[in-house]
Amino acid sequence: MKLVWLRRDLRAEDNTALYHASISGEPVLAIYVATPDSWQAHDLAPIQADLIYRRLFEVQKDLQQNNIPLVYAQVATFAESAQLVAKLAREHAVTGVYFNKEYEVNEVQRDSQLVDLLAADGIEWHGFDDKCLLPPGSVKNKQGDYFKVFTPFKRAYLAKMYQSPWRVTKLQPLTQQAVWRDEIVSELSPRSSFDYPRQTSERYAVDTESIIKQLRQFDSDRADAYEKQRDFPAVAGTSKLSPYLAIGALSVRQCMARLTYQQALPLVGGREIWQSELIWREFYQHLIYFEPKLSKGRSFTPWGDALIWKNNPAWIEAWKTGTTGYPIVDAAMKQLNATGWMHNRLRMIVASFLVKDLHVDWRIGESYFMSKLIDGDYAANNGGWQWCASTGCDGQPYFRIFNPVTQGERFDPEGHFVCTWIPELAKLPKKYIHQPWKAPNAKALSYPAPIVDHKTEREITLALYKEAKDNGNGA
Ligand SMILES: Cc1cc2nc3c(=O)[nH]c(=O)nc-3n(C[C@H](O)[C@H](O)[C@H](O)COP(=O)(O)OP(=O)(O)OC[C@H]3O[C@@H](n4cnc5c(N)ncnc54)[C@H](O)[C@@H]3O)c2cc1C
Repeated sequence: MKLVWLRRDLRAEDNTALYHASISGEPVLAIYVATPDSWQAHDLAPIQADLIYRRLFEVQKDLQQNNIPLVYAQVATFAESAQLVAKLAREHAVTGVYFNKEYEVNEVQRDSQLVDLLAADGIEWHGFDDKCLLPPGSVKNKQGDYFKVFTPFKRAYLAKMYQSPWRVTKLQPLTQQAVWRDEIVSELSPRSSFDYPRQTSERYAVDTESIIKQLRQFDSDRADAYEKQRDFPAVAGTSKLSPYLAIGALSVRQCMARLTYQQALPLVGGREIWQSELIWREFYQHLIYFEPKLSKGRSFTPWGDALIWKNNPAWIEAWKTGTTGYPIVDAAMKQLNATGWMHNRLRMIVASFLVKDLHVDWRIGESYFMSKLIDGDYAANNGGWQWCASTGCDGQPYFRIFNPVTQGERFDPEGHFVCTWIPELAKLPKKYIHQPWKAPNAKALSYPAPIVDHKTEREITLALYKEAKDNGNGA
C-alpha cells in the first residue's frame, strides 16, 4: 500500500504525489495531519483553518470516487506529524510514502525528518515539486544562480515553460481500496474538527466544481480585461482564486493551462499580465527556497535589518482596526478583518502606510496579515511585505512612498470601495471622500481625524532609510 501525505495540496486532480502513487498499481491511502501548535507559531488565520477544514471533506469525496480513502489525525507540531506518518508507514507495511514539497524552512525540516525516519526503516519515499509549474532550481541565470530581478526571471521562465513539456495530470480510479484500521487515525468526520480556532469561510465555495467554474469564468469573462481592471478595488477585475491556490485546492498548472488554452503564444494584453502574476507567485516560491533567512524574519537586503522602527502601539492598533483617519487604508483594513481578503492594490497601500507613514516594522504587518488572510501564503506574503518595505528582492525603491490620498483618488475615484466599508463617508461630496478632514462639516463625522501627517512622516522615512542604507552595509 502507498501512503500520500496531503498538506497544502488539497486536491485530487493534478496532484503530483497522488498521481504517482495511483499509477504504482498498489492501493493508495491519503492522510491529512492537523498541527495546531505549529499553525499557531505560523499565525495561521482562523478563516484559512476553516477553509482547509471544509475543503478536506470535498477532497475526501473526490478521492473516494477514485477508491482512495482519506484519513485524518491531529498532533501538536510539524515534528510530531513527521514522526506520526513514519510510524504509521512502519506499522502498516506501507511500501512508499508520497508527498509534495513545501519550501519554507520549518516545512523543509519536517520533510527531511520524515525522510530520515523512513530511510531508517527502509521505506521508500517520493517528494515532488508540485507547488510551482517550474520548480526552484529549474530557472537560473547565466551564472547558474537564481534570479534576483523579476523581469529577467519572467523571460527565462516563459522560454522554459513554452519549451518544456508540462501537463495537468488526471487521477486514475483504482480498482482496489486500501484497508486501514488504526486508533490514532480516523476517517475524516465532523467530530474530527481541528483543535484550532476557526472563523467561518462560508462565503468561499470549497467544492471542486465551483472552484474550477470560478477559474473558467475568470478566463472567459475577465482575463482579457485584467490589465485595465485589476487595480480598482471596487471592480471585480481579479480572479479571487488566491484562497484556493494558497491551500492547493487549485494548482498553478490548472490556471496556466486554462489561460493559455487555444491562445496564440506568447500571450498578450490582460492574459499576459495575469500570467505575470502567477509567475510572481513562483518567483517568491523560488526565493524562499534559495534564501532560508526569509523564513526566519530576516530582510532580503543586508541593510534592511539596520532600519530603526518606532512601533508606536497606538498607531499599530489604529492600523489594525482601520481607524487611522485615512479612508482608503481604513476601508481596506475593515475589508480584511471582515472577509479575510484584501485587493492587491490595497495590500500595497496599507503595507506602505504601516511601514513608511507609521514607521512600524514590516514584520508586524506581515504577521498580522497571516493571522487574518484567507489566502495567507508565507512566500507571497513575505515577498509582498518586503517589496513594499523596500527591503526585498527586487523591491520598490525606498524613496517611492505611496500617498494614501492620491492612491485613493486614483484607484477608487468614485469612493465606492471606501463607502462600502465606511458608509459614514458617503454623506460627503466626492472630493472629500479620500480626505474627509478637509470637509466643512468634518467635526460632525464620527470618522477619526488622521493620526499622522503624511508629508511629515514621509520626510522622516526618507531620513530613516538613508541612515540604514549608509550604516547597514549595502546598496
Ligand atoms: C503586502 C502584500 C501581502 C500579500 N500577501 C499575500 C498572501 O499571503 N497570499 C497570496 O496569495 N498573495 C499575497 N499577496 C499578493 C496578491 O496581493 C494576492 O495574491 C492577490 O491580491 C490575490 O487576489 P487574486 O486571487 O484576485 O489575484 P489575481 O490578480 O487574480 O492573480 C492571480 C494569482 O496570482 C498570484 N499573485 C497575484 N499577485 C501576486 C503577487 N504580487 N505575489 C505573489 N503572487 C501573486 C496569486 O496566487 C493570485 O491568486 C500579497 C501582496 C502584498 C502587497
